[in-house]
Amino acid sequence: MVRYGELSTKGKNRRAFIDRLGFNVRETLHDFPDLVVKANRDRMHIQLHGEDSSAVMARLQQVFGIQNFSPSIKVERDVEAVKQTAVAMIKEHYQAGMTFKINTRRSDHDFKLDTNEMNDLLGGHILRTIPGIKVKMKQPDLILRVEIRQNGIFLSSQTIDGAGGLPVGTAGKGMLMISGGIDSPVAGYLALKRGVELEMVHFFSPPYTSEQALNKAKELTAKLAPFAGRIKFIEVPFTEIQETVKHDVPAGYLMTVQRRFMLRIAALLADKRDDLAIFNGESLGQVASQTLESMVAINDVTTLPVLRPVVSLDKNEIIEIAQKIGTFELSVMPFEDCCTIFAPPAPKTKPRLERARLYESRLAVDALIKRALAGVKVTEIRSGEKFLTENSDTFAELL
Ligand code: ATP
Ligand code: MG
Repeated sequence: MVRYGELSTKGKNRRAFIDRLGFNVRETLHDFPDLVVKANRDRMHIQLHGEDSSAVMARLQQVFGIQNFSPSIKVERDVEAVKQTAVAMIKEHYQAGMTFKINTRRSDHDFKLDTNEMNDLLGGHILRTIPGIKVKMKQPDLILRVEIRQNGIFLSSQTIDGAGGLPVGTAGKGMLMISGGIDSPVAGYLALKRGVELEMVHFFSPPYTSEQALNKAKELTAKLAPFAGRIKFIEVPFTEIQETVKHDVPAGYLMTVQRRFMLRIAALLADKRDDLAIFNGESLGQVASQTLESMVAINDVTTLPVLRPVVSLDKNEIIEIAQKIGTFELSVMPFEDCCTIFAPPAPKTKPRLERARLYESRLAVDALIKRALAGVKVTEIRSGEKFLTENSDTFAELL
């Protein structure tokens, strides 16, 4: 039994939210063929029909829009059946000295017992059946929830926190600039959490960056897929632009001009693909290119919103999330990405917008971008897919 998160406050959009959550849950659980998912107005019911409950619950914890859920048992609308199941469920968790309470809700008002009568009846029965157990109203050790519905009575003794947030896809579509680093996958997770459907854009510069650096970005995408469903991955060849910038732009502005190119291309792709915003993993003050001055000088190339979900987080806070969502270990694997390799020794921390515009105006911007766009490749990445293989290549690079 799944309880919805913030949905309940969304007024007339409620139906759309519930439908989308139902769709997302079915997607995540697509490989459990016997499941039946019913997304009703105030609860979602997932009938297991013999599928493995712990595997199903592990997946559910990664679906945004769920406040919490409870493994439940459905019994006939028969008091004896409820009594038996209630005792069995309490016994499952009971240890000597524990306290309990029964919490009944009734959506079917035709049932012969009301909530108080049901609480009393079950409470009394459990007290008589399990020696030593006591009733406690405030913060008992065990709570048995009973829901009386038209189609049966549902009992649950456990409530598991969901991922919170809003169902992915209810807040429009955006594009995440994903590198191989720690920050951008976390930014992606946070965007997904607020219901944004994401596509990934990644810039790579062969032969300066290896196939493994590209694969790393893909595998990070696969790590985010459990929260998102399938994710489109857009790879953009960036070698020519980086070589040109390195050759023709003063060292202090290399980084700024490179970033302007990245953002320009991301914005063009976003426009073409109906993405409403660009997300990145910038955190204020973390490195030279992530000062406010720098953001002014880079952001200049687009009017699309550039959203930075980790802008105010400290590095250790970002790492904590990366560990929680399972991207950290992959992110710290040592494959050079295009920015590390072309990083100037001393990038300006306070680049000036007019300077950036001036240096850039000396380059054949449109032609460079056109050629990069011609080399774009789009693939679709699913959860669990592996791209980094433990082959000789990988080890050679790690050594
Ligand atoms: P991250 O850990 O996400 O790599 P970072 O702290 O290393 O971030 P930068 O390298 O300055 O920071 O990158 C800032 C942001 O620019 C990244 O978070 C990412 O959104 C974007 N970015 C950097 N490199 C790439 C790339 N090769 N492809 C796509 N986006 C990139
Ligand atoms: Mg980086």
